[in-house]
Amino acid sequence: MTQIEYEQHIVYRMLLVFCRKHHGSDKNLLCKNCTQLNNYAQLRLENCKFGNDKPACKKCPVHCYKPVMREQIREVMRYSGPRMAFYYPIDAVKHLFRKHNKYKYKTQKAK
Ligand SMILES: [Zn+2]
Repeated sequence: MTQIEYEQHIVYRMLLVFCRKHHGSDKNLLCKNCTQLNNYAQLRLENCKFGNDKPACKKCPVHCYKPVMREQIREVMRYSGPRMAFYYPIDAVKHLFRKHNKYKYKTQKAK
């Protein structure tokens, strides 16, 4: 899975958590508004000019989201970010694992 694919997957899952709590959607379904937001976010990631070298969107110097969409996605991330580990423990573990790999790589290189 590439970095972009991974982030697309995470955004979608964050929206699922958010939509279920805030808009009363069924599990694994998004309401109309959240579907639009998801489509937009997926497209932005696909067209990210940094490709698989992209930094976290939060730290990215290019603000490619329209202000309205940006505000909405920030709200979703603020809510779902800390809850991801609870709803999707496998993804949380994967995330940790990635960090761990990076760390290992850095220490090996430093030798
Ligand atoms: Zn929704």
